[in-house]
Parts: sequence; C-alpha cells; structure tokens
Amino acid sequence: MHQQQTIRQPVTCTGVGLHSGCQVSLTLTPAPADTGIVFIRTDLRARPRVPAVIANVRPTLLSTTIGVDGVQVQTIEHLLAAASGLGIDNLYVEVDAPELPAMDGSATPFVSLLQEAGIAAQGRYRTYVKIVRSIEVTEGDKEISIHPASTASVTYAIDYDHPLIRSQAYTYDGSSDSFIRDIAPARTFGFLREVEELWEAGLGLGGSLHNTLILSDEGLLNEGGLRYRDEFVRHKVLDLVGDMTLLGMPVVGEILAVRSGHALHARLVSRILESRDNWVFVSAESHAPAGRLRELPPSLVASPQRA
Ligand SMILES: [Zn+2]
Repeated sequence: MHQQQTIRQPVTCTGVGLHSGCQVSLTLTPAPADTGIVFIRTDLRARPRVPAVIANVRPTLLSTTIGVDGVQVQTIEHLLAAASGLGIDNLYVEVDAPELPAMDGSATPFVSLLQEAGIAAQGRYRTYVKIVRSIEVTEGDKEISIHPASTASVTYAIDYDHPLIRSQAYTYDGSSDSFIRDIAPARTFGFLREVEELWEAGLGLGGSLHNTLILSDEGLLNEGGLRYRDEFVRHKVLDLVGDMTLLGMPVVGEILAVRSGHALHARLVSRILESRDNWVFVSAESHAPAGRLRELPPSLVASPQRA
C-alpha cells in the first residue's frame, strides 16, 4: 500500500487534442522508483523531457500546461488525476504533440488505460508531505486551503448562475475506489458563449460535444445528458486531484476549495512548498502495522520538487 507504484507494461491510445484539434498518440511506459511523472515529446528529435512538477507549470487559464526550455505539454491534468487516483507514482508519458488527447473529457479513458497496463509495486517506500499547520490561498471570492488530517481528502464547492449548476459541493475521500467510481467519469464543461469565443480565437478546435459538456443559457447541449447531477463539481475535484500531483509527492491533509481553478490550485502547491514549517515528510515504517506513517528527518529525503 505504501510502496511506490508504476505500470507493468507500455500501453498506447490515440485521440484528438482539445486545442489543436489534431490527432495525438499517447504511450505510457513504466518508470523507475523516484522518477515521478515525466512527459516526453516524441515528435521532437531530441525527445525532450518535461517533469510534471510545479516549477515547470506555465500560466494558462483553461488547462494545466508544463514546459521546459520552450517545450510544452498542455492539458495534462486529467491524466495526472488518473495516475494519482490509482496510486501510480512513477510514469513516463510519451506524446507526439504539444498536448494530450482529450478523450471523452473525463479521466475514465486514462484510468482504463492504466488498468490495462497493470499496476506494479516497486519495493521502495513512498514519501508523503504531511500537513501539520493550515495553509490558505485566496483571490477575490476564490479560496483554497489545506489542513492537518490523518488522510487525504478534498471538499470542493462551486456556484454558477446556471439552472443545471447553482450551488454544488462534493467531498472525495481520497480512495482509489471512489476515484474510479465517483470522480474519474466526470467530464469537463464549458458555456456555449465561451466556447464560441475560443473557436473564434483559434483555440479549443478539438472541443466538441464528444469531450465537453456544453451549457447553453437554459440547459445542456449534450444529448446523452449528465453522468451525475453534480458532474460539474465532481470534475472540479478531478482537476484538483490532478493539479496536486505537481507537488511531486502525495500529500496527507484535508483540502477545501471554493470557486477555485487551475491557477489557484497551482498557487496552493507553490505555497505548500514555500511554507516549510507547515508540513513534515512521512513514510511507512517497514515493521509497523500497515497504514502507520512515521516522520522522516528532512535530510533523509529529496526535495518534493523532483526534476
Ligand atoms: Zn478538467
């Protein structure tokens, strides 16, 4: 349970990039312990590597993008969420385009791909960042905070002036079972007005009713309807689970988010790293009962921003 995990064998899928509208091929391969999640651009001759850590995050409003030396990979959060939800620490992600395939707009296709690959324990204990004092980031009426707790959980609240959304709140208990069942299937959403503006700006060219819930002023354009009545807030939880992996290590604490988004998620991760007095490194004790974590002296562990 507390061992680091990767996948057993390489797996591939293809799909359309949300922004470029181009066909993208994605291959996941096993990575050694302590690698973290590293993206590799196979369409470029040097096959440059971009580790999924907060130091490499590039500012974007609509999705999470990472880059190193001008080489970018866009819309990584749903795959990161799937990896985190299944407890996968180490993974190489090869893509032949500057963005990931959108699939159906949820994390379920990535969960299925990872399950098809199989999960392998790596015989090395995971190090967690355990929050011991609360940390909060706010921006206008948006806020996100993390508090000491014995497990990892996320509570998210949103409110939109739209008849299908209004006020929604959801608590995710951090378990793989709930992630697969209650969080992964929730799809990304957008408002028709904004989608049209994006298309006019030459963005979101791969966006369609196949990979985005599109809301008109009164209702939903997608004929199949919602997967959950509160699919919107569940997708916000999904995005946050993905963005939190940018810390480079799993976190133990209770996260509360209100009207937050990718930019504020990233600021929370940065603030955690800066607030060195507010957390400790913990790891499973080899001889302790399963589930018991012990504090590690910082000198024994690498920085949580693996690069
Ligand atoms: Zn999303």
